[in-house]
Amino acid sequence: MGKPISGLKKRVDWFYTSPAWREARSFILQRDHYTCVLCGFIGNSESLQVDHILARKSNPELSLHPLNLRTLCRSCHARAETSFSRGPGYKAKKRTNVGPDGFPSDDWR
Ligand SMILES: [Zn+2]
Repeated sequence: MGKPISGLKKRVDWFYTSPAWREARSFILQRDHYTCVLCGFIGNSESLQVDHILARKSNPELSLHPLNLRTLCRSCHARAETSFSRGPGYKAKKRTNVGPDGFPSDDWR
């Protein structure tokens, strides 16, 4: 409420350079067999990205939790981010039943 959103656009994040994240990321890629969980695309650590199902900002304690991480290809990840910023779930991001991508996070339950 009336809070300035300065710094929100900044994409460079210490989190993604931390050893803990690199470790979690490679664990998730292996767990998901280097396959995008949405479209089935099979890639490698460069073509695939690890996505937070629940936003890190609202659920920082789940940042490295395997159940909150999933493997996505670049196009699914981009689509997920787009639907998050435009989708109906955007305003309701504090609700835990909506993932950061705006989709209901069924597999989270
Ligand atoms: Zn995909």
